[in-house]
Amino acid sequence: MTTDGIFTPEDRKFMKEALKQAEKAIALGEVPIGAVIVENGKIIGRGYNRRNTDHTTLAHAEITAIRKANRKVGDWRLEGCTLYVTLEPCQMCAGALVQSRIDKVVIGASSYKSGCGGTLLNILQNEAFNHQVEVVSGLMQEECTEILQRFFKDLRKRNKMRKKSEAAESAEPAAPESTSFD
Ligand SMILES: [Zn+2]
Repeated sequence: MTTDGIFTPEDRKFMKEALKQAEKAIALGEVPIGAVIVENGKIIGRGYNRRNTDHTTLAHAEITAIRKANRKVGDWRLEGCTLYVTLEPCQMCAGALVQSRIDKVVIGASSYKSGCGGTLLNILQNEAFNHQVEVVSGLMQEECTEILQRFFKDLRKRNKMRKKSEAAESAEPAAPESTSFD
């Protein structure tokens, strides 16, 4: 199913920016997830996954983008802002987004492992909380899925090659028996 019809060229422009952030994660060997926060047509916060690089659970793309946007506006509230993210937010990021009072979240690919924008849970729109976020999913879904698939494919290839070279090392013939001509 394609929902591309509901998105504007501007939406696409910002999701491309989120994908650029995801590419930065790839360059660090991190799972490629990127996000940008937009206010009045301008990007005020960018982020990409840096969990391994920064050794912190908190270094998700959305959290970094929220921090930067907070700094930019000088407020913990992100009312009037929209987050574009390549992969559906997890429980931590969805929680932070609700806390930020952000207006809208635009999602690229759905996450079947941790999606809390409607896939596993819908934290973004839970009526029990004091704030609900408008959620739209499926913007440039193919591109957002492809970058993850490419990363995991390369990772598997690298792991396979590493195992092969380890196996080759352990299978190396022992030093030849001394061949004395005595
Ligand atoms: Zn997250």
